[in-house]
Amino acid sequence: MTAPHRRPLIAGNWKMNMLLKDSVDLVRKILDGLSSPPAEVIVAPPFTALTVVSELLKDGRVRLAAQDMHWEASGAFTGEVSGPMLKDAGCQAVILGHSERRRYFGDTETTVNKKLRAALAHKLVPIVCIGETLEEREAQRTFRVLETQIKGALAGFAPADLASVVIAYEPVWAIGTGKTATPDQAQEAHLFVRKQVAGLYGDGLAQGMRILYGGSVTPENVDTLMSQPDVDGALVGGASLKAAGFLRIIHFQTPVRN
Ligand code: PEP
Repeated sequence: MTAPHRRPLIAGNWKMNMLLKDSVDLVRKILDGLSSPPAEVIVAPPFTALTVVSELLKDGRVRLAAQDMHWEASGAFTGEVSGPMLKDAGCQAVILGHSERRRYFGDTETTVNKKLRAALAHKLVPIVCIGETLEEREAQRTFRVLETQIKGALAGFAPADLASVVIAYEPVWAIGTGKTATPDQAQEAHLFVRKQVAGLYGDGLAQGMRILYGGSVTPENVDTLMSQPDVDGALVGGASLKAAGFLRIIHFQTPVRN
C-alpha cells in the first residue's frame, strides 16, 4: 500500500478521443459516481475539450490536465499550446513525455526537460512519463533506460523545484496492448525510480514523490497494482473512457456499490 504521506492519484488520459458532447457526458457521469474516493482524480481531455470540461469541474473534486504543452509562453509556434493557455483553459496539471509523444512527435529528454521547466514556471503539476520498450526490456536495458529518462527530464533543478512533480512509469509494451506489467514488475521499476530520484535529489523528495503506473490498467487489475508499496496511483488510457470502469479504478480496493 502507498505510504500514507503520498496521496494516491488516478489520472485518465483520453488521448485523441472524445468530441465535446462525449466529454461532457463522461465527466458528468464520473462526477455523479464519485463517493469519497481514496485517490485524487485527474482527467486529461484533448485540448479542444479543456474549457468545456473545466466548466464542469469547478467544485474541485476532479482536476484537469492537458496531454502536452510547449515550453515557450507564446510566439510563432504553429499548432502548439503554451502553459499560460492551459492555465487560461482551467488546467492544473499536464502530462509530459508520454511515449506516444516520444515515438510519433519527436519528444526527447531535452524537450521533456524544457516542458517540465515551463510547467513548473506556470504552476502546472507535471506528470512526467517514462518507460522502456519491449525490445529494451528483453535486452535487460530497462533500468538503464529509466535512469536516462529520469536524469534527462529532471536535469538542472533544485530539489525544492520538483516537489509537485509526479512520475508515471509506463512500460511502452503495456500501453494499449492489454499486457499489464505484473505487480512485481511494477514495484521493481517504481522502487528503482524512487532510488534514482533519491540519488539525484535526496531521500526527502523521493519519499514524497508520487509514482504512477500506466499500461493497460483496468478495474480488474488496479487493486493488486495499488497494493504495491511504491505504486502511488495510475495513469489510465483506454479504461478512462468509460465512466463505470474509470469509477471502479478511482475507487480501487473499495467494495463495489450498487
Ligand atoms: C496511457 O495512455 O498512458 C496508457 C497507459 O494507456 P492504456 O491504459 O490504454 O494502456
